[in-house]
Amino acid sequence: MKNIILTGDRPTGKLHIGHYVGSLKRRVELQNSDKFDEIYVMIADAQALTDNFDNPDKVRANITEVALDYLACGIDPKKSTIFVQSHVAELTELTFYYMNLVTLARLERNPTVKTEIRQKGFGASLPMGFLTYPVSQTADITAFKANVVPVGEDQLPMLEQAREIVRSFNGLYGETLVEPKAVLPENKSCLRLPGTDGMAKMSKSLGNCIYLSDSADEIKRKVMGMYTDPNHVKVTDPGNTSENPTFIYLDAFSTDEHFAKYLPEYANLSEMKAHYERGGLGDMKVKKLLNNVMQETLEPIRIRREEFAKDIPAVWEMLKQGSEYAKSVAAQTLSEVKRAMKINYFEK
Ligand code: ATP
Ligand code: MG
Repeated sequence: MKNIILTGDRPTGKLHIGHYVGSLKRRVELQNSDKFDEIYVMIADAQALTDNFDNPDKVRANITEVALDYLACGIDPKKSTIFVQSHVAELTELTFYYMNLVTLARLERNPTVKTEIRQKGFGASLPMGFLTYPVSQTADITAFKANVVPVGEDQLPMLEQAREIVRSFNGLYGETLVEPKAVLPENKSCLRLPGTDGMAKMSKSLGNCIYLSDSADEIKRKVMGMYTDPNHVKVTDPGNTSENPTFIYLDAFSTDEHFAKYLPEYANLSEMKAHYERGGLGDMKVKKLLNNVMQETLEPIRIRREEFAKDIPAVWEMLKQGSEYAKSVAAQTLSEVKRAMKINYFEK
């Protein structure tokens, strides 16, 4: 069996450091490991439209932003196919057939979708497209026969849904589709990076992000304004590190070398955490270190991004070529699906 990756992002905003540690960084490592036969990175504009159908300009503008973020982080179009979802019409057709294999009750049970519906306050005006996006995500994954899907933790229910559809399809129509598995970040803090406001998830739609494209000043302002432990009022108070986003970001990004360079009084993060927990370490010092770490991590990404941004037509040409190739692969799977379903009436 071939080793094939599919991942993607919704063009609802620029990509942030949660995307970076949750999925992007891993994708680049996997891409450069040469262990994969094919890698597909999808800009999920059709999915973004399920809750932004009234704002197509936003989706369109963010396709460019997300593509720039990819290139800046090291996704290389020579090794990975970067494509735009809406330009692979075969995905919609697959979705239509997969819809028959899922019940409304099953869709309503998806915990990530449930949370998102609540956050977006849809109530009775929930668009059908939004509720069914896990089915279209199954089409995205299976169209490319992907067996590996590097994602953040919030995507686990989507992968479970995809596996169920694949099993049910293969059971009914014969072995055709490949069951995918999720690959999560190894570092626990990266599974679901919290927002700068302490909310459970940094999310483009919640406005609590540090973006990969933020300027040095913006990064500093955001880090200095971060939520910490509300009970850590005086420096001498004992503090909490496990639910404190400043420490969670340090878990995700800092190395012992950062300590040697910026705060040599601690050998590593464990020593610093112990000090905060017993009291006597102020938030300002933690934030200053975090700012240094974030600046060092994001500066090279920002510089590369500015380089790619000088030639936007070249970025769109790359997306066009990627989409054409992706379309040819998805068309092949669709014809296998139709044959399995016995709806290949006009095939010789
Ligand atoms: P939206 O609010 O529009 O849904 P988002 O910020 O959730 O945007 P997505 O495009 O839905 O971003 O997610 C893209 C990928 O990034 C997914 O694999 C998801 O699991 C991962 N991801 C998103 N946010 C985080 C986060 N805070 N921590 C870790 N991974 C994340
Ligand atoms: Mg999301």
